[in-house]
Amino acid sequence: MSRTLGRRAGTWVAGASLALGVGIVSSRLGAGVWAWLGAGAAGGGLWALFATFRRTSEVDSEGNAVGSAEGSVLVPSSAPRDNRPADGEVGIVPVLGVIAGEGPLAPEFRPFEALGPLAEEPPARGFRVWGRRFPPLLGRVAIVSVFVGRDGQPWSDDELVGAHRALKRAGAWIEREAIRWQVPVNVDLADTYFSSVEEDADREVAIFRPDDWGGMGLPDPDAEARILGILGRTAAALGFADPVDLIGRIGRRIEADQIVWLLHVRRAGKSIALPSDATGIPGVAVAVCYAQEEDFEAPMSGPPFADPITFVHELMHLFGANDKYDQPRSHVPHGTVSERDIMVLGVEALSRLAVEPLTAVEIGWASSPTERPTGPVRPLRSAADGGIRGTSPAGKKKRPRRPR
Ligand SMILES: [Zn+2]
Repeated sequence: MSRTLGRRAGTWVAGASLALGVGIVSSRLGAGVWAWLGAGAAGGGLWALFATFRRTSEVDSEGNAVGSAEGSVLVPSSAPRDNRPADGEVGIVPVLGVIAGEGPLAPEFRPFEALGPLAEEPPARGFRVWGRRFPPLLGRVAIVSVFVGRDGQPWSDDELVGAHRALKRAGAWIEREAIRWQVPVNVDLADTYFSSVEEDADREVAIFRPDDWGGMGLPDPDAEARILGILGRTAAALGFADPVDLIGRIGRRIEADQIVWLLHVRRAGKSIALPSDATGIPGVAVAVCYAQEEDFEAPMSGPPFADPITFVHELMHLFGANDKYDQPRSHVPHGTVSERDIMVLGVEALSRLAVEPLTAVEIGWASSPTERPTGPVRPLRSAADGGIRGTSPAGKKKRPRRPR
């Protein structure tokens, strides 16, 4: 997914998956904007990933409390509350006070049914790191998944199982790299997931003409509104007022430094990531991963492909990493980026991809591209290296396209 394209064209599209990153500064933030965007959006199928960044109190480098988010005062900090070193294990984090159903992944993961009683819903808390457009990828990072069925077709039990397996693998890779860079990152998956289904009958509208874009890489000018529309409809279907309500209320029930929401939309399409300045909503950044990568959005041919490489690549964008596949290597210092970098994707195997120095600086893992990782290199646990797709034999033969 190309962030540079976004700056050029005002919107940007790429890759097979769509991840939405949403940082919530206030639960009231932008409610009107969401409503407007939701009303105007056409359908798109995929995945979205939103991230909310929050914390309860801040401690400065001397260990003194410098404030708290109580009373809506945002306190800048670059240190996560949870500073445990990465352990390579992807844990499970509870979503407090929700009523969940059963499903193929119970009791580990269960589908959200409704908000349950909670003694006191804590206030929304802001997370902001001064001097950075994105938060650093540090601390306890909770991943919350929203599975959006498309074309009237929900995610099947097998597909949900495969997607969770791929998510765990993505988390394990991030922790492996964090161990190598000796940074405190612990990735956990939320024990509750969300799902909805869209019919798409009236949304098959091609609004853009590829020819207009020449060599621009086919940006889809409607992508932002489409993604935000998906979020709006999904939130409504789940009983929330709007995406801000969904993300804010659930986020407050998860004990983590940072929360990444993954919206898995079951359609073919091209990845897009919308940082907060592209969404036009302060603190709200959006990236979406399609379940099958195609240049144009369409119903899927074959089963969805849950690709841990896509998950990691999109997640890296949300924490400040830029695509580097277009960059001439001649102008960057030797050894700071290669084909193996997660933002270059020059190799096909997740185990061979890495966070290289330039990307490490962008996500807050290194302070200079001259730094090199000094930690041990752990093997990735799972034997299968690729993503996990559905059961169709035809699908297994096809090599997945990667996000850009
Ligand atoms: Zn990208």
